Amino acid sequence: MANLRFEAVTEAFRKRPHEVVAPVERPSEYFARKVFNRQKMYKYLPSDVYEKLIDVIDNGARLDRGIADAVAQGMKQWAEENGVTHYTHWFQPLTEGTAEKHDAFVEHDGRGGMVEEFSGKLLVQQEPDASSFPSGGIRNTFEARGYSAWDPTSPVFIMDDTLCIPTIFISYTGEALDYKSPLLRSLHALNTAATDVARLFYPDVNKVQTNLGWEQEYFLVDEDLYSARPDLMLTGRTLMGHDSAKNQQMDDHYFGTIPERVQAFMKDLETQALELGIPCKTRHNEVAPNQFELAPIFEECNLAVDHNMLLMGLMKKVAHKHSFQVLLHEKPFKGINGSGKHNNWSLSTDTGVLLHAPGRTPADNLRFVTFVVETLMGVFRHNGLLKASIMTATNAHRLGANEAPPAVISSFLGKQLADLIDHIRKADKKELFTLKGKQGMNIDIPEIPELLIDNTDRNRTSPFAFTGNRFEFRAVGSEANCACSLIVLNTTVAEALADFKERVDRLEQAGEDRTSAILDVLREDINTCAPIHFDGNGYSDEWVAEAARRGLDTESSCPLTYDRYLDPATIRMFERLNVMHENELRARNEVKWEIYTKKIQIEARVMGDLTMNHIIPVATHYQSQLAKNVDNMYAIFDEGEATHLTARNKKLIREIAERTQIIETGVEELVNARKVANRIDNLRDRAIAYHDTVETKMEEIRYQIDKLELIVSDELWTLPKYRELLFIR
Ligand code: ADP
Ligand code: MG
Repeated sequence: MANLRFEAVTEAFRKRPHEVVAPVERPSEYFARKVFNRQKMYKYLPSDVYEKLIDVIDNGARLDRGIADAVAQGMKQWAEENGVTHYTHWFQPLTEGTAEKHDAFVEHDGRGGMVEEFSGKLLVQQEPDASSFPSGGIRNTFEARGYSAWDPTSPVFIMDDTLCIPTIFISYTGEALDYKSPLLRSLHALNTAATDVARLFYPDVNKVQTNLGWEQEYFLVDEDLYSARPDLMLTGRTLMGHDSAKNQQMDDHYFGTIPERVQAFMKDLETQALELGIPCKTRHNEVAPNQFELAPIFEECNLAVDHNMLLMGLMKKVAHKHSFQVLLHEKPFKGINGSGKHNNWSLSTDTGVLLHAPGRTPADNLRFVTFVVETLMGVFRHNGLLKASIMTATNAHRLGANEAPPAVISSFLGKQLADLIDHIRKADKKELFTLKGKQGMNIDIPEIPELLIDNTDRNRTSPFAFTGNRFEFRAVGSEANCACSLIVLNTTVAEALADFKERVDRLEQAGEDRTSAILDVLREDINTCAPIHFDGNGYSDEWVAEAARRGLDTESSCPLTYDRYLDPATIRMFERLNVMHENELRARNEVKWEIYTKKIQIEARVMGDLTMNHIIPVATHYQSQLAKNVDNMYAIFDEGEATHLTARNKKLIREIAERTQIIETGVEELVNARKVANRIDNLRDRAIAYHDTVETKMEEIRYQIDKLELIVSDELWTLPKYRELLFIR
């Protein structure tokens, strides 16, 4: 029997770090070299066109189609100088990853030749025949076309020989078919609501920007070993595999020395990412063996999301060059940590930051508390929805597995901030007002010491933690498009801020002074959202029970969490803020349920195949070897002695027989469960069936396979083991 595993392991061991020619220039010199950023806009565009485009980007002015041709000309000139021959609209459909369809710059010149052309029309809008992307029924009829439209706020960039134009993707009737369009709408809603509230404190604020700094975790696996694991190749995770005797128990990988081969990959990746304008900053080993992290400097949210999508694509390419495969799956290996993508989220105005607590003036302090409390209000009111926004078939493996935030959304504040908020809640209004003497005016809420919020007061078990000047949404999965959860977060906070402002206005109109009105509303909200605040251990069982008592959403079945998208309160919020309409929400849920089902379906099929083609043949082969040995023993020794000497092998033969039998029955049941589920028409019900019957069956089968791996001769086992996948450099 040819054993691909041995060949793969030998190959993997033989590899040396890939040669990386380090750029001679400094990062500041090649940063954004492949991006049509302001500098290049200024150089390649007529000055009036440049001014107008900047107005669109900075101030959300309407794009004047009249300038599109001139912009396209400038872009084309720059692109051609960089060897570019093609262009593409680059968008983010509801599947994973990004989509692109390349067109060459060429057109007939009418005289039998060709001419390079690129017009404003092609830049601004296209109609890719992308009919195979999931739309949740929005594009059922043949004339329901999909359009991609330029997003000027995210600069175009060059990938290989192609000019990539970030676009939204919408239907003929204007419904979003992607992540970017609702994200932009949510950012707009948040900007409007937050600017209104910020102006209560600083009247000259014109704009509130949402910032995002993501931290991308990932695994690297040697490509040869990867190729010998059909489950990794087809599902992104190992569906079987016994624990390695050594894994992460020594904590020796976290922040450890980065292996040479990996370091070469990282260097290469960072150089290319920096050229694309992704401001890479941090890299380190993560907790699990072969697990790493890359984090850039935070950026405006829409741009940061695009950069993360771009980076995930780039990682795969660069990894391949270094004979690695990058695993973005949230849980590629059982028994060790999975990968997440912390989303560091904050708000800033054109004049300063909003979630920072400098404690300089009373207005600053009150502003700080207001934005913190209203963020908590949004998260509290829609905690189930926020959880739904991070839930996927793959991320579900991480949640509640004592490594990632549990399947309950709560917020960690740290002692100082919690005390401060509690003080405001409890303080008798008079006391608060007399804090600094001047009635109703100069309230120092309360005397906030310098460096108020301790950045190192960390609680790793919290899914939504305040970390000094931002909130860190930690439940997001490593493979996710950040936009999916940020659409929800931005909108819930926008709603809370809008409600806050309405109530403050009402009190002011009724004659209350502003500070007092703000405090009244804040105190009401602090009481309302108190259940979301939890600084304890999010991994403990008591917390889940306590969370349920507090009325927080504790649902852990992925398909059921999606129901929160269709709650009346959700629909009301999204429609009121014009982020999504009910039909879009319904369509998205259809897509979510379908993707969930398909993922589990593929896993179940791969598991069935591997069981029948690898596990059972190998186990029975070994069993035959053992049986032959037993026969031989009886030929050599007298019966009494032979019986004694073959006891162990007989025991193993029996164990293999029993386990393979359970596995075979399990696989039959798995196939049947799938058949039953496949007959269900309703997508939600089908997803629930896959969750309740198919997924659980797979776990049972895996248990038996992993036991077999321990007893079958290593020489015969065909699938690379955890100790090889995770420790080979
Ligand atoms: P860790 O949370 O692991 O300590 P860092 O402190 O390095 O990591 O920060 C992680 C990410 O948070 C980085 O992308 C960083 O740019 C981002 N970040 C820092 N400050 C802010 C902020 N005010 N708003 C948004 N993101 C921020
Ligand atoms: Mg962090």
